[in-house]
Amino acid sequence: MACVFCRIAGGEIPAEVIAREDGATAFLDVTPLADGHVLVIPNVHVGRVEDLEPDTAAALFRAVHRIVGPIRAAVGAEGTTIGINDGAATGQTVPHVHVHVVPRRTGDGAGSVHSIFPHGTRQELASVARAIRSQLERA
Ligand code: AMP
Ligand code: ZN
Repeated sequence: MACVFCRIAGGEIPAEVIAREDGATAFLDVTPLADGHVLVIPNVHVGRVEDLEPDTAAALFRAVHRIVGPIRAAVGAEGTTIGINDGAATGQTVPHVHVHVVPRRTGDGAGSVHSIFPHGTRQELASVARAIRSQLERA
């Protein structure tokens, strides 16, 4: 059976869809973190960001770019936290790529992306950068 987000993209199960675009669908999260909490998904089933085809990745971010302003205006928010849980280790519960678009207000009690990580890391920047550049050369 197709995953829940595939079924929403295909119109097989109900959702508060706000936009259906070429390659991407945006709908309200059923357990919103704030009014106007929207999920934007690729219309094809892909579990991880790195496995998206480039055109699909572009369509996904094009949809985010198009809807973020209207969402903020609709709920009278001042800002937006935009995030992806990518992989089970991050808390991703639905294994179909989805971008959380969460309207924010000053003093709403939620933190920044930095607040997710309580400890940070002390690894030397240069060696981490070298390792990533080396992987990029192979990709
Ligand atoms: P994540 O933890 O990043 O995988 O987030 C999955 C999100 O999907 C959660 O915020 C859920 O509330 C949301 N969700 C799960 N099922 C549905 C559904 N049928 N319609 C809308 N949102 C859903
Ligand atoms: Zn799916």
